[in-house]
Amino acid sequence: MPPIIGIDLGTTNRLVAVASWRGGGVGAALAPRVIPDAQGRALLPSVVRYPESRDEGGSPIVGHEARDQAIANPRTTIASVKRLMGRSLADARADLPYLSYEVVEVDDGRSKAARLRLPDGRLLWPQEVSAEILRTLREQASAALGVPITRAVVTVPAYFDEAQRQATRDAGRLAGLDVVRVVAEPTAAALAYGIGLRSGGIGLPIGDSTEQIIAVYDLGGGTFDASILRVVPGGSGLQTGAPTADIFQVLSTSGDTHLGGDDIDHALVELFTREIGERFFGGGGGSAPVLPPETRSGLRDLAERAKVRLSEHESAAVRIEIEAPTGSHTYERTVTRTELEAVAAPLLDRTIEACTRALRDAKRDMAGEPVSCVVLVGGATRMPLARRRVGELFGLEPYIALDPDQVVALGAAVQGAILSGAGVGRGGTGVPPVSAQAGALLLDVLPLSLGIETAGGAFAKLIMRNSTVPARATERFSTSVDGQTSIKLHVLQGEREMAADCRSLGVFHLSGLPPMPAGIPKLRVEFAVDVNGVLSVSAVEERSGKRAGLQVVPTHGLSREEVERIEAESFEHAREDMDRHRVVDLLANAKLDLHWITKQMDKHGGLLSGDELDRLRAATALLRDHIDKAQADWRAVDANAFHRAKEDLDKSSVRLHEVSIAASLREQSP
Ligand code: AMP
Repeated sequence: MPPIIGIDLGTTNRLVAVASWRGGGVGAALAPRVIPDAQGRALLPSVVRYPESRDEGGSPIVGHEARDQAIANPRTTIASVKRLMGRSLADARADLPYLSYEVVEVDDGRSKAARLRLPDGRLLWPQEVSAEILRTLREQASAALGVPITRAVVTVPAYFDEAQRQATRDAGRLAGLDVVRVVAEPTAAALAYGIGLRSGGIGLPIGDSTEQIIAVYDLGGGTFDASILRVVPGGSGLQTGAPTADIFQVLSTSGDTHLGGDDIDHALVELFTREIGERFFGGGGGSAPVLPPETRSGLRDLAERAKVRLSEHESAAVRIEIEAPTGSHTYERTVTRTELEAVAAPLLDRTIEACTRALRDAKRDMAGEPVSCVVLVGGATRMPLARRRVGELFGLEPYIALDPDQVVALGAAVQGAILSGAGVGRGGTGVPPVSAQAGALLLDVLPLSLGIETAGGAFAKLIMRNSTVPARATERFSTSVDGQTSIKLHVLQGEREMAADCRSLGVFHLSGLPPMPAGIPKLRVEFAVDVNGVLSVSAVEERSGKRAGLQVVPTHGLSREEVERIEAESFEHAREDMDRHRVVDLLANAKLDLHWITKQMDKHGGLLSGDELDRLRAATALLRDHIDKAQADWRAVDANAFHRAKEDLDKSSVRLHEVSIAASLREQSP
């Protein structure tokens, strides 16, 4: 049977995803992925451009091309049609000022629904417009998967009423899709993280059968939603033999249908426009100049690019040509992250107030249970300030491991795969049998060890396989090179001793460190896997206070067979791996020692006796020989002999340590 796809029907962008089963038997795992278009783009703008008149003929243009034509053809380019789905003109009144096309009410005796009127008089249902986009997504998925797709799970905001949900189903039908389930967006986001999956699923499926309260913070381009959900343990999956999802109850939602990342762009544009007025229009009274539409849209573009850059960097450069009564000028400036955050703060305050309202509304139903995790959705949640504010409000590290633009579509795909396994519609085949009971035994523990890569490519395990979740571990590290201002942290999963033989989960950098000699930085790395299997890694350099982190869904799509293969490999290579790990660790430490001793011998060697110096030189030469050999090929050295050589140098250098410490104390004393 063709799979049931998942579709995120966003106001500005739509995505399609599919989840496939990897492996079979007890450890069958769901691996959802977004299906890109032929050009490799995942997001399809929710925009349809209709021909100017019926005579012009041709079919509507959908997506990127339509969006690019929006400014030139405002009345025939339909964006944000989601705002009209299943609504009357009166319902949609607050949205009308934001729409560039005509919306009318047609009373056909049965309903008073809002319709769109094109300049040539054609009337369109919002469902028809939505169907154009859904059809494009269906075709995209059919082409990519090589089978005709006919069934989908689609998402809607949690606050959509029955009329709006029905309009969404109808749009699907018009596009040739049987909408087998309409899922609330926050529920889909939670499912993408494996929350509430009883057995199987991405991440670590939970064996935990307690209720959970979760919060979903969704800040997109133009809308903001905060939702509080309760996840109630559902069926065990025993009847169907397939994983089932728990029951998700939306306890409350709050938000603003006209608040999003675009408003942050507008606030930046206002700032730029005021400065342009002051610099080039002689404006001192604070009134902003009226700029031509091309300049305004150029500024909007610059503002968005600066905002996006500032999520990763501390500053962004802005430059645009301005025509003013005084002639042509170049407006140029640098925007810092602090400036952007000052502009964005009042808007983010409003989102935090909405979260507080949602929490208050859900309070009675939460019955004293705390929020156990917060999921971030929407492109604008990539802003560090948004993450910080949400983290502070809930007192929790928010979930950010999955792409916030894709998380709803991925969750819809997971729901689609679950439904096809549970025999919904004509489905029910093609899913490997999963024993939920056996699965539960396996699944509330970590199937593979987690850790980081250390000097020389060795793998340092922080959390061992078979640890029960939640699990937490901390370890201290330092640097192996003088003056390192950035430390790369490579997070891995596996049983082998060398990083190259393990599975990479992600890389992050701790940068901006003051230069320090090797071995001096104090790096504390913490790993935490929560009940939902989400791994958060944080690293802090304690002398400078610099910190960085990463989140991952650790066993994403790892099947039972893969886990078994990795385990078997680790047994097979155990001896060799251990030797290699030992040599690599010895090499890193020996290099540090040698570096320090050579420096101190140059400075204070004159204070040692001839014998002491001879012994030190011999020990240094022997260790250097081992280092050179090990660097060329780790197999060329005997780890035990290497270890002895290092110990010998440690012993021979005791006197040197003493005289260096005494000398440095003398230097420090007044
Ligand atoms: P969505 O509707 O979820 O696709 O979100 C779109 C919004 O996210 C737009 O306002 C984008 O400018 C914003 N956005 C996308 N990427 C980033 C980023 N890296 N940092 C800040 N905002 C972003």
